[in-house]
Amino acid sequence: SVESSIPEPQREAWKKYSATGFKSKDDFQKETVRHIETTLARSLFNCDEKAAYSGTALAFRDRLIIDWNKTQQRQTFADQKRIYYLSLEFLMGRALDNAMLNVGLKTAAKEGLGELGFRIEDVIQQEHDAALGNGGLGRLAACFLDSLASLNYAAWGYGLRYRYGIFKQEIENGYQVEIPDYWLDFNPWEFPRNDVTIDVQFYGWVNKYTDDEGKQITSWQDGEIVTAVAYDVPIPGYGTATVNNLRLWSSKASAGEFDFAKFNSGEYENAVADEQRAETISAVLYPNDNMDRGKELRLKQQYFWCAASLHDIIRRFKKSKRPWKDFPEQVAIQLNDTHPTLAIVELQRILVDLEGIEWNAAWEIVTKTFGYTNHTVLPEALEKWSVPLIQHLLPRHLQIIYDINLYFLQQVERRFPKDRDMLGRVSIIEESQPKTVRMAYLAIIGSHKVNGVAELHSDLIKTTIFKDFVKIYGPDKFTNVTNGITPRRWLHQANPRLSELIASKLGSYEFLKDLTLLNKLENFVDDKDFKKEWAEIKYANKVRLAQHILSATGISVNPKALFDVQVKRIHEYKRQQLNIFGVIHRYLAIKNMSAEERKKLAPRVSIFGGKAAPGYWMAKTIIHLVNKVGDVVNNDKDVGDLLKVVFIPDYNVSKAEIIIPASDISEHISTAGTEASGTSNMKFVLNGGLVIGTLDGANIEITREIGEQNVFLFGNLSEDVEDLRHNHFYGNHQIDPELNKVFDEIKKGTFGDEGAFSSLVSAILDHGDYYLVSDDFNSYCKTQDLIDETYKNQDEWVSKSITSVARMGFFTSDRCINEYADSIWNIEPLQVKEEAEVRSRT
Ligand code: PLP
Repeated sequence: SVESSIPEPQREAWKKYSATGFKSKDDFQKETVRHIETTLARSLFNCDEKAAYSGTALAFRDRLIIDWNKTQQRQTFADQKRIYYLSLEFLMGRALDNAMLNVGLKTAAKEGLGELGFRIEDVIQQEHDAALGNGGLGRLAACFLDSLASLNYAAWGYGLRYRYGIFKQEIENGYQVEIPDYWLDFNPWEFPRNDVTIDVQFYGWVNKYTDDEGKQITSWQDGEIVTAVAYDVPIPGYGTATVNNLRLWSSKASAGEFDFAKFNSGEYENAVADEQRAETISAVLYPNDNMDRGKELRLKQQYFWCAASLHDIIRRFKKSKRPWKDFPEQVAIQLNDTHPTLAIVELQRILVDLEGIEWNAAWEIVTKTFGYTNHTVLPEALEKWSVPLIQHLLPRHLQIIYDINLYFLQQVERRFPKDRDMLGRVSIIEESQPKTVRMAYLAIIGSHKVNGVAELHSDLIKTTIFKDFVKIYGPDKFTNVTNGITPRRWLHQANPRLSELIASKLGSYEFLKDLTLLNKLENFVDDKDFKKEWAEIKYANKVRLAQHILSATGISVNPKALFDVQVKRIHEYKRQQLNIFGVIHRYLAIKNMSAEERKKLAPRVSIFGGKAAPGYWMAKTIIHLVNKVGDVVNNDKDVGDLLKVVFIPDYNVSKAEIIIPASDISEHISTAGTEASGTSNMKFVLNGGLVIGTLDGANIEITREIGEQNVFLFGNLSEDVEDLRHNHFYGNHQIDPELNKVFDEIKKGTFGDEGAFSSLVSAILDHGDYYLVSDDFNSYCKTQDLIDETYKNQDEWVSKSITSVARMGFFTSDRCINEYADSIWNIEPLQVKEEAEVRSRT
């Protein structure tokens, strides 16, 4: 039973005044004006768009929080299992538009704001992106939260409330410049919970002793304490009354730590310094994508967040007064990559040291509770932490890691007594200098399921980096959940006209809840009017992007040209260098074309976007080259509209919402076997763009679903990569002759000082071309030529576009969440009575 703080007789008065939130245009206006005039202390005479945004956001926040309260109550009463999604990144983007659409009151808000003198589009744009993530991994977490709420699962996200999200990127003289992203000056979407705090310990030492009753006690003591404060972000489901919670932790000096003794004895500065040190923990998101840098502060962030989240989860569990053995029936924790692996160790510590549970019983609870999602096979991204660093920061955890390892290796030894090398290969501890803890191994050993994020990727982890673990645990511990995306944000919100057109053909917006319904669009591939409208919407989206490009870069592009887009983090494995070398190749080809040939060529705009990690030299060099090629090509009168090259600065979720609906072709051209899944590939196809891609990640499944005739595939296969790399060093490494011409042009200085780009060129010529750019160059260029040819037949192109969208149902994140629920979490959704009422709203 759940206790209420208000006695039964007084609840009637309470209920009479319970907030209900607005449900109509008039009420929306009333609430918005009230917030502007009272909460914000503005008036009719000084209400700008920012204030209109703030008032609107506060009105919607009230609306959400009412459902948030009811949802939390309902979930507590139901006393069922909850899912906890631990992710160090949540790349949420803006919240207002999403809240309006999910709650079903965007039309009311649009009309209401119109009458108050504002355009809803301008108001929405006032919001600062919540950019607490680097790329795909963080955006996946955001899509999953949307699906969990939309499907009525009782689920919480847990993350860190960084004061600075991913940096803002500016381009100066062709170079990336990083600007801090301070995003919290006004954030109506978070609720500080100053009463929800958890003290987290660091450093100190481990005291083992026998108490008066003869019991063995292990105590971690004399550490430094930092306090975690909860900030809650409401996550509304689409077309349902469920509003789930994303809890983000902020660090501050603990009340005890802000040492009044120090303060009073005149050590004012030291006391303040302690405070600042504590606040540093949640100050900034590490800006590396698919890269492990092993910094102490990062490890502190990880433990701080894991410890706070676990203690919070346990506090909630304890309210149910159930025995500990029930914990895995009430709690499922999913680890988004290895960043939260310390949660495994922390739970074992709590159970054994603090709750006095016997090691094996505790370990059974732990392994039943956790699931681990692997996101990469790239060696530089696999997390390892130095043993001395863990020893210093978390001495008791290191002992527990060694014990987990010992019991695990003993088990391996019993199963494989003849395979001595196996023990060294699978040990959590790598015998390097210094020794390191292999976090992925710890995550596997401490979880009951391990999943990859696309079929190829899940197969690769089983046959390469984790193959010994498949031998040890059997294949059933390893599974696949192919990534997905939420169609609410990535179709309905980003491309409202397309969503509306689809709804007009399918009879309702039900496809946003069941994306497989899109398959009915296939009935209309020959419908002339429909195709015309489809093409017009793409064109309008391109006009909108062209306007953005003009205002952001000063470059004017023709929306009738083929828009060829590659936007994602800049990374050698994602091969933006292949793309830009291809652009140079195209430029040289155009320069050599006759007037007749030029007439036949479809004009093209090559659009790039994405951030480079600040310390990633090669990635920064790629950005520089793209900008310098753009400077030359865009100003070459001889080329004109036939080719433009654009780098859109500061790629983020809001930019993605403008860019993705406007692409004709998007590029997903990673070296085969390197991209775990990719999710932007899904977003582009769902918005009617075609893709050029390698047989990598989810490209393979996209191709299977939408048909090979609708995808432009090229390049070597993942099974050939190892041999090719070997041959680069030990065989006869021939560089593609057309690529050599591109290099010659760079070396001539056509794009400025050749020295600036020498690292890019020599990675291929002199350092083994690890990413197989030369091997794939010819087939890449030929496939681009095929795209030119295909684009000439617009009717066929539009048919491909419609057919592809019709077959994308599989890639909704709703499907992912249901798969996780069935095969990993063992949890059912919680039915919501209000659903019918909410759904009927526009
Ligand atoms: N960054 C942003 C802002 C995104 O929206 C996405 C997802 O689509 C990504 C990065 C990931 O892109 P990709 O799957 O191409 O790596």
